Amino acid sequence: MVIVMENTATKEQIELVCQKLIDHGFDIHRSTGSNRTVLGVVGDTQQADTRDYEVMDGVHEVLRVTEPYKLAGRTFGPENSIVKVKDVEFGGSKIVLMAGPCSIESRDQIKKIGGLLSPLSTRILRGGAYKPRSSPYSFQGLGEEGLKYLREAGDTHNMAVVSEVMDRADILPALKYVDIIQVGARNMQNFALLKELGKVNKPILLKRGMSATLQELLMAAEYILSGGNHQVILCERGIRTFENYTRNTMDISAIPILKTLTHLPVVADPSHGTGIRKQVAPMARAAVAAGADGLLIEAHYDPEIAFSDGAQTLYIEQYEKLVEELKIVASAVGRSI
Ligand code: PEP
Ligand code: MN
Repeated sequence: MVIVMENTATKEQIELVCQKLIDHGFDIHRSTGSNRTVLGVVGDTQQADTRDYEVMDGVHEVLRVTEPYKLAGRTFGPENSIVKVKDVEFGGSKIVLMAGPCSIESRDQIKKIGGLLSPLSTRILRGGAYKPRSSPYSFQGLGEEGLKYLREAGDTHNMAVVSEVMDRADILPALKYVDIIQVGARNMQNFALLKELGKVNKPILLKRGMSATLQELLMAAEYILSGGNHQVILCERGIRTFENYTRNTMDISAIPILKTLTHLPVVADPSHGTGIRKQVAPMARAAVAAGADGLLIEAHYDPEIAFSDGAQTLYIEQYEKLVEELKIVASAVGRSI
């Protein structure tokens, strides 16, 4: 259930409605937009009589939310949510570029890549320290040491940093070093992890599971939101289909559909979305044209020697060219980079 207050509602009227909800045993998620307050009511609202609230002063309307993702849905947040990371905003008019290697390989590697990407309109440096690899014999990441290098590189080049956690035990080190915590495709439905991330005060980049529906992605976001952390950014990163030319099928339609269903920012990862270096740029351009609020792209000064995902990693020169193209696409859809 959602209670939309009048734009003229006073603080006292809003407080009275909140008090009544609390008395009836509900939790409240308050969202204050530019002109009105919306109260998201959490709990077993089937039992509530909407008329009890409709008659209260300052109440504009009371809506029953039919979607199972109550906090992530548009009914609760008709206005786009902005997720702030330092001075970078996800979900506003600017498109946010996040780029870097698949894995943090050494202090020098991540620092050098940060230095190459930071002049290319790239505000956020990515790099994995805890790597979900299909084979236990593949490089597993540098762990906390890698996060330290990532932080150092970010600070040196005035970039915010994003890195993945795979397990609840990774959260504490991640909180020390990163600005955005990534949940990878393989963990989108790791509910214990999502619940724990609901308690942290850091933005979460939540990737779509490789066989997850959009509703399942939104329900995963709901776990984090209902835990109290409202800073969630969704990421389309391709899904498994019968097509085997690409590593995954980049679902571009997920972007405008998510933007309709949810107020949360939506970004796209064309690197994992295709798995093929040559296909990253066209899918990145398509994602921006389709309304993505940001991109997550793998780039390295020498993809041939990358410890992981080299085949889908752009050379810096390719990335530089892409950024220039993205500026044109962004302006064609009323955005900027
Ligand atoms: C990654 O970003 O390096 C990664 C492992 O992504 P995904 O979870 O989308 O496979
Ligand atoms: Mn990767």
